[in-house]
Amino acid sequence: MLKPLHHYVCDTCSDIIQTPEEGWLEWKDGADKNGMRFAHSFRFCHVAGASQRRKVCQTHYRDADVSDSYLSEILPRSPAFIFSFLGVGHLHEPELHRQRVVDMRAFLDVARRLTIPHYEEARQFWADAEHDGMFEGRHEYSTYAPDFLISIIERYGPYGGGPGPKVVPVSGEVLVFAERLISLFANHDSARAAPSHLVKDVKVLGEEIFGKLGDKGMRDVFDAAEASLTESARNLIDRTWSGTGYWIA
Ligand SMILES: [Zn+2]
Repeated sequence: MLKPLHHYVCDTCSDIIQTPEEGWLEWKDGADKNGMRFAHSFRFCHVAGASQRRKVCQTHYRDADVSDSYLSEILPRSPAFIFSFLGVGHLHEPELHRQRVVDMRAFLDVARRLTIPHYEEARQFWADAEHDGMFEGRHEYSTYAPDFLISIIERYGPYGGGPGPKVVPVSGEVLVFAERLISLFANHDSARAAPSHLVKDVKVLGEEIFGKLGDKGMRDVFDAAEASLTESARNLIDRTWSGTGYWIA
């Protein structure tokens, strides 16, 4: 599962943006002939060089009316960022009171991505959930409640048999470690508790991964392995990994 309000899915290459420092939010902040500003075309994407697939995921940077910022700059200030588009206040607009966004529905999607835990991952499966009637009978706000969003992710994400968000290993080394981790769990798929010898084996592998790839490598190995495992195996791997002391929250 993606780490909420930390991992994002790139609107250009569809791969995971691994850290807010590798993430970029861009939009267009134009003005009409009367000087009235309006914002639109918001996009979450990788900063240049952070994608495994493309050199550049930003698309607005050549435009004169582009505005943009690192996700790491925006996320700690999300409410202030969002409200500034709904009305900048009398300090900046003494005479006017109006919103700056052109398409409120699209902007609410941006606001939810920035503030609601698990929305970023659940929105990948919105059409499937809608098709299957998961939203029927839900309150207007409970549609976006994190616990309900988790149920969508569990049903349609990598553990529900669906395609899930793409998890991109950082290198071939990560894949090799991930395959070894999967093979360790292959015979323990339905176990209820993590057997001690499994903890020992995982700990040995963990030390090897950590020694070679460090913190980020550990996380990438786990993510890569997780995408191939069933839910019961995922629960087992979670507990076992915790038992080794290597689990990165
Ligand atoms: Zn990208």
